[in-house]
Amino acid sequence: MNKYITKTQIVANLQCPKRLWLSVNAPQNGSVDDNVASRIDDGNALGSAARTLFDGELITGHGDAAIADTLASGSDTVFEGAYLANGAIVRADVLSKVKTGHQLVEIKSATSAKDSHVVDTAIQTHVIRSSGVDVTSCSVGAVDSTWVYRKQGNFDGLIKLIDVTERVEKIVDQVPAWIEGARQTLAARSCPNVEPGQQCETPYPCEFRAFCNADQAKPAVGSPSHSLPKPWKKPLSEFLAQHPQADWKDVADDLLNPLQQRVKWSHISGSKYHNIAGARRSLARRSAPFYFLDFEAVSSPVPLWVGTKPFQQVPFQYSLHNVDPVSGSLSHAEYLPDHADNPVRELAERLVGDLPDEGTIFVYHATFEKGRIKEMAQEVPELADQLLALLPRIVDLLPITRDFYYHPDQGGKWSLKNVLPCVAPELSYADLDGVHNGMDAVTAYRDLLTNGQTEQVRQALLSYCALDTLALVYLWYSLRGETTE
Ligand code: SF4
Repeated sequence: MNKYITKTQIVANLQCPKRLWLSVNAPQNGSVDDNVASRIDDGNALGSAARTLFDGELITGHGDAAIADTLASGSDTVFEGAYLANGAIVRADVLSKVKTGHQLVEIKSATSAKDSHVVDTAIQTHVIRSSGVDVTSCSVGAVDSTWVYRKQGNFDGLIKLIDVTERVEKIVDQVPAWIEGARQTLAARSCPNVEPGQQCETPYPCEFRAFCNADQAKPAVGSPSHSLPKPWKKPLSEFLAQHPQADWKDVADDLLNPLQQRVKWSHISGSKYHNIAGARRSLARRSAPFYFLDFEAVSSPVPLWVGTKPFQQVPFQYSLHNVDPVSGSLSHAEYLPDHADNPVRELAERLVGDLPDEGTIFVYHATFEKGRIKEMAQEVPELADQLLALLPRIVDLLPITRDFYYHPDQGGKWSLKNVLPCVAPELSYADLDGVHNGMDAVTAYRDLLTNGQTEQVRQALLSYCALDTLALVYLWYSLRGETTE
């Protein structure tokens, strides 16, 4: 066990004593979040960027060494300073001497000061004050999402300071009890008995959800509670809360909207719902040639390239399939940069070059592709007319699929990953090497940016994105009751 109680442990105990106890006594039962590496990278980048905005000294050691270095620092501003009081240790992102005392700044990868940030800051404030430093004001350093990165290495304006002193003062007196609570949890010999509930998701998704839910009676796969698509109206929610294991026949039709009724019919009959005539009518209005497009995009609280904003989704890759309307032959174009520069201009140039002036561009979940194209039009104004002309040609296959197709194996979901195994079981994301979903793609791309281009990672990215658009081609045929043969 650690010698000191940390802020992370105090916060974990506030969320759920079982979480804290498990994190110390049985951490192997937690599952690692796939996004955790990216979040750590983003947090480190934000911390580094924030430090350029102050003139101060960074404390790099750990434990007692960090405490000693912080005490010995003669700097008016200290980054990552370590403060110890009453057996609790905290590290402050920024602590600066000001006229009235000291200002504490907690840097957060968020655009506002949330209650959970104020709790963090109150814990820091209590421990730092108890260690003898007079913290007189507290701020959350949040990201200004309207800020534009204009000059390499200049992050002036990226962080906006939100004064939370009043909010901290309202709760800071509770911190000694929070520390004592965490101490008692850590001293317990057995795991606290806590039932899963809302605390498992908020303020942070708990890493022990799979472990704690293992004994819970979950709705059976394919049951109404598992597979009825949301949103649920109140009477349906109430019925399923009272009858979590209800059979499909128990769910009255008047509790369901037309889509949910189709899903019910499909599960009762064990058959797929497929309105081929309706899908054909919807798709017949689209003019050839037919293109199938998918972007992958990356975002970060600290912009990766000059000219972009915090959290901006920057497209770095696309796949584009084309079906010849006469021969039915398939051709493919794609883009993935072979450098670490901002890919947007090159991608936009390639995209307008790969797409002729006419025809339909099918996508899945059009809001995403349309949003990226509009942003590219702003970033590359000389191509704006060509890019914006693509928008009215974009057709979203998602609502068409939702209207005209459902297979019980979809489990009430219409993501491409749920639909594809039903319409084209011969295509599988599981067969791909290394990149199986959008998050994997972002991680792989960031790997290319950080560690340089490797053929293996490039191929994994290209294969994944190509499968996304090939899946759209198969879906397009399948919706119309045709095959790709
Ligand atoms: S999953 Fe829920 S009940 Fe289990 S430790 Fe986490 S917060 Fe507590």
